[in-house]
Amino acid sequence: MTVIRDIIKDEKRIVEENIDEKYQSDVLGRLKGCADTIVFPISTEEVSGLMKYAWENQIPVTPRGAGTNLVGSTVPVRGGIVLDLSLMNHILEVDEDTMTATVEPGVLLEDFQSYVEEKGLFYPPDPGEKKSTIAGNISTNAGGMRAVKYGVTRDYVRGLELVLANGDVIRAGSKNIKDASGLSLKNLIIGSEGTLAVITKCILKLIPKPEYSLSVLVPYPDIQTGTTSVLALLKGNAAPTAVEFIERGVARLGEDFTGVSFPHPEAGAYMLLTFDGEEEEVALHIKKARKLALGKGAIDFVVLDDPEKAAAIWKTRGALVKAVEAVSEQEPVDLVVPISQVEAFIRFVGEQEERSGMQLIRFGHAGDGNVHLCVVRGDRDDAQWEKELHENMTALYGKAYALGGLTSGEHGIGLSKRPYYLEETSDLLLETMRRIKYALDERGILNNHKSYLA
Ligand SMILES: Cc1cc2nc3c(=O)[nH]c(=O)nc-3n(C[C@H](O)[C@H](O)[C@H](O)COP(=O)(O)OP(=O)(O)OC[C@H]3O[C@@H](n4cnc5c(N)ncnc54)[C@H](O)[C@@H]3O)c2cc1C
Repeated sequence: MTVIRDIIKDEKRIVEENIDEKYQSDVLGRLKGCADTIVFPISTEEVSGLMKYAWENQIPVTPRGAGTNLVGSTVPVRGGIVLDLSLMNHILEVDEDTMTATVEPGVLLEDFQSYVEEKGLFYPPDPGEKKSTIAGNISTNAGGMRAVKYGVTRDYVRGLELVLANGDVIRAGSKNIKDASGLSLKNLIIGSEGTLAVITKCILKLIPKPEYSLSVLVPYPDIQTGTTSVLALLKGNAAPTAVEFIERGVARLGEDFTGVSFPHPEAGAYMLLTFDGEEEEVALHIKKARKLALGKGAIDFVVLDDPEKAAAIWKTRGALVKAVEAVSEQEPVDLVVPISQVEAFIRFVGEQEERSGMQLIRFGHAGDGNVHLCVVRGDRDDAQWEKELHENMTALYGKAYALGGLTSGEHGIGLSKRPYYLEETSDLLLETMRRIKYALDERGILNNHKSYLA
């Protein structure tokens, strides 16, 4: 009978004792699983061998990249094997003629971005956590700051090599730009949170690196004026690359955390914008944006032409979740609403905060309706926290759905958002998704009980 040691010959890449707690969880570390074995494959053949072994023995498998997800999608709830892909971290090829790169799943986003940028190329998907892996990004359809102009991870995946639950290896997609050839299995895998197959190779689309980029900080008297102004910027074709909103109270937390001061402390909220492209084009878009923002009630329009100041402000934006966590435990929410409804939703969050007495910190990607909330625990005991968290989450998701929104814009559903997602999604749609799952993984060994699964 085959055992794991027949497949992974190097003892150091199999861990069965004293398993580090991080492998039982996600980056937040609150939800815990009970994996028996962590394995670190280094090739597609090893992944295939491990999946065959798991399939034959009906052992649950949880694929894992860098473990930076915020929704419990790497929690090995049913024990079994955690398949850590982080050693498969080689950039295999950059094909400058087709403007594609082929990489292994565990390549870190920051390594990949800097590698291609040195060649004058650009990989736009830009989630806040740069130490996440490319396959983790694909499996969650990660978004990030630049989605307004460039789209999300899905828009940059051309092809995937996949190991199915039974160990078979298939390729979906290719380097080709167009593809009307059969079903797009590649697109089904993107965002599937490790429930359908293990990604072992990724062909990614690249674009030329923008020549120039400039950020602007726009203070507004209040968040409503700011979010309304964003619609004018988008409709007015000011073409921002990123549009982030930050309330003054949240900015203050960020300032305390990083020691960086935002201008205009009297503002109620800020919009942090970036523009990129050719220098003249950027200048033109910034001119347009200034006119539109000031015409819609902005207090000022602060061009961050000192690169150090711009980097410090962006660093503070990137550190907001950590800044909140430095003060209290929090539950992150990344729901999404149509951009026309951001203002209505933000207003509702303010009202809900008053009604419930629970601090609800709001910031996020104003340019694509992806509102990030931190539900702040404060000094509540466990029972009170669980109860009030659930009440507030139910109210927040309820309102988002009523406005035409969705449970997750980019973090995924995993375990922690699953109750709210299942509540909202029709039985027929769930049933259809589950039939697809079981067509690919009849024995239900890959990351079961996550997202859409029962
Ligand atoms: C500070 C901070 C900021 C963040 N900001 C953003 C943001 O702006 N935008 C955003 O989208 N996300 C953000 N995230 C969330 C997180 O970084 C992303 O979800 C990221 O894509 C996860 O990548 P990972 O490598 O850590 O994957 P993991 O957390 O290891 O796994 C995530 C999911 O992918 C699956 N998976 C991983 N590798 C494979 C594989 N090879 N084959 C099949 N399935 C696989 C796992 O099973 C799991 O379901 C942030 C997180 C933190 C901590």
